[in-house]
Amino acid sequence: ASTASRYLPQVATAALSVSAQASAQASKLLIDGEWKESAATEHIDVFNPATQELVARVPETTNDEFEAAVAAAKAAFPAWKATSVANRVRVMLKYQALIREHQTEIAKLIVDEQGKTLVDAEGDVFRGLEAVEYCCTMVPHLFGESSQSVATNLDVVSWQEPLGVCAGITPFNFPAMIPLWMFPMAITAGNTFILKPSEKDPTASLRLVELAEEAGVPKGVLNVVHGSVDTVNNICDHPDIRAISFVGSGPAGKHIFTRGSANGKRVQSNLDAKNHGVIMPDANRESVVNALVGSGFGAAGQRCMALSTIVTVGESAEWINDVAEKAAKLTVSGGMEPDADVGPVISKQSLERIHSIIESAEKEGATILLDGRNVDVPAKYAEGNFVGPTIITNVTPDMTCYKEEIFGPVVVVLSVDTLDEAIDLVNGNEFGNGTAIFTASGAAARKYASEVEVTQVGIGNPGVPIPVPPAAFSFSGGKASHWSGGRLFLGKEGIGFFTQTKTVMSSWNYDHEAVEELRTSMPV
Ligand code: NAD
Repeated sequence: ASTASRYLPQVATAALSVSAQASAQASKLLIDGEWKESAATEHIDVFNPATQELVARVPETTNDEFEAAVAAAKAAFPAWKATSVANRVRVMLKYQALIREHQTEIAKLIVDEQGKTLVDAEGDVFRGLEAVEYCCTMVPHLFGESSQSVATNLDVVSWQEPLGVCAGITPFNFPAMIPLWMFPMAITAGNTFILKPSEKDPTASLRLVELAEEAGVPKGVLNVVHGSVDTVNNICDHPDIRAISFVGSGPAGKHIFTRGSANGKRVQSNLDAKNHGVIMPDANRESVVNALVGSGFGAAGQRCMALSTIVTVGESAEWINDVAEKAAKLTVSGGMEPDADVGPVISKQSLERIHSIIESAEKEGATILLDGRNVDVPAKYAEGNFVGPTIITNVTPDMTCYKEEIFGPVVVVLSVDTLDEAIDLVNGNEFGNGTAIFTASGAAARKYASEVEVTQVGIGNPGVPIPVPPAAFSFSGGKASHWSGGRLFLGKEGIGFFTQTKTVMSSWNYDHEAVEELRTSMPV
C-alpha cells in the first residue's frame, strides 16, 4: 500500500474518500517533485454534488508558480529523453499495478467530487488503466523507419523523438480516465508534462499523479498546476510548452486550440457532442431498451459518448414507452449508495441549465414523456444536484434541446420512417463524436457505418451503446466534436501527437582516402 496523501496533508485519503471533510484543504501543486501549498489568494470551492459539503479548495496558481512548474519540466526533459524507452516502460508497468491496487480508493474520490456511482467510477479508473497498459507496449511504437543505400554509401533512419514539455487540461466528467489518456502516453514517449486537472473535481487526478511518482516517475517529469481560465491561458502562451492536450466543452476547447495554435503549439482538442442512437425495428427490443437506458442515463448523462439522442425508425417509435418505463425505475441517489443507478449532476449551475433546456423543449412544442425535475431522493441528499431520467419526445432538429449538448440525464427522441432519413438527420447535426445503430441487418449496419459522418460508430444487435474504442485504437471524434487538425488521442496516432519524426542521414565511405568532389548543384 502506498503512503498517505501528500497533496492533502493531515487528511488521510481513505477518510476523505468515505465522507466529506468539515474544512477542506487546498489542493497542492506538484512542482519539481514537491507537493506545495499555493500562495494563491483566490480559490475555487469543490462541493460534493450529492450533499453540497465542501470537499476541496482549488487554488488559482500564481504566475511565479506556473513559471516554476514549466521550468522544472524543461529542466527534467533532457535526462528523461535520454532514459531508455524500456526503462520508461518499466515505470508504467509498475504504475498500472498501482492503479489496479488503488482502483476502489480512487473511485471513492471520484464519487465524492464528481458524483457518479461507485461502480461507474471504478469503470472510469479502469478505462484510464487501459491507456496505461497500452503505454506498456511503447517500445515498438517508437520504432522509426530506415533505408539502406538510398544513394552511394548513404543510409537513412528516422526516429520518433519526444517534443519536450507538454501540457494537459482536463474536464470534470472523467477525472481518472482523461488525465490517464494524456500524461502516461506523453511521458512514456519521453516528454515531460504539466497537468491542469479539472477545478471541479481534482482530487482523483491528484491521487493518480501521486501514484505515478510512487511508480518511479522522476521529479520534474510530471508537474501539476491548478486553476481555470488564467492558468489555461498561461499554458496556451508559454513558449516552452510544445503541445497541449485538451478535453472538455466546445467554447473552452476552441479557444485553447486557437490560442495555442497561434503560439505555434500542437493542440489536440476533443469537444462536446450530441450522439445519436438509431433504432431499427428488426433489433432485439429488450436489449435495445436496456442499452438506451444505460447509455442515456448512466453517469447522469455526463459522458461525452452517451447516446443522448434517440432516432426511431418506423415501428421502433413505440419502444420509447418501454425506455420510459425502465428509466423511471432507476434509483436516483448518492453515488456511494449500493442501489444508486443515477447520481447527481456536477453543480447547481448545471442543474439549472438542464432544467431550463427541458423548459425550452416544452415551450418549443416537444412532449416531456418522462420528467426528472423534482425527482425524489433520500432525505440525506436533499441538497444534492439531482435530476431524474428525463425523456423528451416529438423533438425536431430546430429545437434547443436538439441543438445543444445537454450533458445531463435527458434524452431527446426524434422519429423518422427510413434508414436514409436517419442518416441524413445524423449527418445534418454539427457534432460527430459517437453514434450507434441497433439492427439485426448486417446490410443496414454496413450502410450506416459507411455513410454516417461520425467517427466512432457502434453497430449490431445487441449493438454498442457507448462506442468508445479500447486504448490501442485512437479515440477520434469528428466535425465540431474535434478541433485538432486530425491529431487524435490514444492508439498510434496518440503516440504520434507526442512525438516528432527526426530523420538522420549518414554517409560512410570505408575508403577514407576517397575524396568527394565539390558540387554546387543539388545532390541527385
Ligand atoms: P469545460 O470546458 O468547462 O472544462 C474543461 C477544462 O477547460 C477545465 O480544466 C477548465 O478549467 C478549462 N476551461 C473551462 N472554461 C475555460 C475557458 N473559458 N477558458 C479556458 N479554459 C477553460 O468542460 P467540463 O464541463 O469540465 O467537461 C464537460 C465537457 O467535456 C462536455 O462538453 C463533454 O462533452 C466534453 N467532453 C468531451 C470528450 C471528448 O472526448 N470529446 C470527453 C469528455 C468530455
